[in-house]
Amino acid sequence: MPKKPEAGAEGRKELVEKARAARANAYVPYSRYRVGAALRSTEGLIYTGANVENASYPVGLCAERVALFSAVAAGERKFLSIAVVTADGAAPCGACRQALAEFGLGLEVILADEKGSIGRVITLDKLLPMAFGEK
Ligand code: ZN
Repeated sequence: MPKKPEAGAEGRKELVEKARAARANAYVPYSRYRVGAALRSTEGLIYTGANVENASYPVGLCAERVALFSAVAAGERKFLSIAVVTADGAAPCGACRQALAEFGLGLEVILADEKGSIGRVITLDKLLPMAFGEK
């Protein structure tokens, strides 16, 4: 069976680069903390997101959910992996973990820093143990 192009190190690197590019568009006048995300669907398409802040703080949205909701709005429901790029390779917040969990706890989460260096690859079920869901 031929190796899928999205699998392995090359696929991860591609996803991280898309997340880095999206991160450049983050709108963060308040925190100055840029986040970029790139989510790959099982259809092989990549949806990106950047965090968008607002003067009314709670109105803003994380990069991961921008990418996820964009993908869902396009009709996607199944995902393989998400790359998240921050200055320091931080993991998604709890709200984003919950939002992603809705579509499968087996999602691969790739955490990278602003240089694109991958610090960790972990599945969502490890990031969100005892997840609340329809089951
Ligand atoms: Zn978040």
